This record gives sequence, C-alpha cells and structure tokens, in this order.
Amino acid sequence: MPLTYLALGTNLGDRSANLRAALEALAARLTITARSRVYETPPWGYADQPAFFNMVIAARTDLPPLALLDVLKSLETALGRRPSFRYGPRQIDLDILFYDDLVLDQPRLTIPHPRLHERAFVLVPLAEIAPDLVHPQIGLPVRALLGAVSAAGIHEVAADI
Ligand code: AMP
Repeated sequence: MPLTYLALGTNLGDRSANLRAALEALAARLTITARSRVYETPPWGYADQPAFFNMVIAARTDLPPLALLDVLKSLETALGRRPSFRYGPRQIDLDILFYDDLVLDQPRLTIPHPRLHERAFVLVPLAEIAPDLVHPQIGLPVRALLGAVSAAGIHEVAADI
C-alpha cells in the first residue's frame, strides 16, 4: 500500500481537541504508521492570528491521491472548518506532503506539497518521524531541508492527544 505523509494544523478553538478529532477521523480511513509530537508554531504568511499547533503523520492508504484529497477536504468540513482566506486562521488544515515518491502537478493537487521545503512548521515534525526521507524533486533528505530553514519560535507542546 502506498505510504503518504500528511500535515495537520490548527489555530482556532481547542487546538488539542481539534488534532485529537482529526487523528481519530483519519485513523478510521487510513492506517497511521507514525505520528510526530505536537509543536506550537508562530503563524506563517499572515501574522495577525493565533499560533498554530502542527504535527505530521505517516499513513498507508489504498486511496489514490485525488481520492485522498477528497477525504481530507471532507474531514476538514466535518471537523468544523469554515472558509477562510489564504494562510488565514483555521480549525483544521490537512495537507498531503508526500505520496510515496510520486510527483504530481494538477490544478487541484500538487505532490510533493509545493511549499513544504520552506516551512519549518512542517519540517520540524516531519524530521522527527522521517529524517532520511528524500524529497523526490529536490533530491535532499528532510533533515537537510530542515537545516536550511529557521525553526525560530517553534516548540514542542506537552499536549494530551
Ligand atoms: P488549504 O487552504 O491549505 O486547505 O488548500 C487549498 C487547496 O490547495 C485545496 O483545496 C487543494 O485543492 C489544494 N492543494 C494542492 N496541493 C495540495 C496538497 N498537496 N495537499 C492539500 N491540498 C492541496
């Protein structure tokens, strides 16, 4: 079964509860094989909003990429996400980072996630569970990608999730 890496983020409401609910819903649809700790991270892109909780999971799935995206989008809606602006606050955000070593560029879906290598809030938890995973386009392992960004302001949360 293909192995995918997903990023989870939330900065509205009870952030631990949002992650808990997302993990529970994801576990019903995918076989989660690893999960990072939870990190509190400064907002990115649009600074005037609450800090995020972020984490990354690895999961096995039979779903092809676009079907997986549909599942994630419907989970976001089911978990109470309301439309917001780009990079704005959100109850839950679910992104596909990698899907095996697939490279895909379609209007609705780009894999690997096009901005993952710039984002410490993704790379810090990803490096915890997959430091040696090689980015199929960049050709560098996650630990090297993390070494190239600033992880300032990111700290682990002792979240009960
Ligand atoms: P977002 O606001 O982060 O939920 O993302 C908005 C849109 O990005 C989604 O509706 C997807 O169609 C698109 N998208 C493109 N590539 C990806 C990806 N790798 N993972 C998740 N969403 C993606």
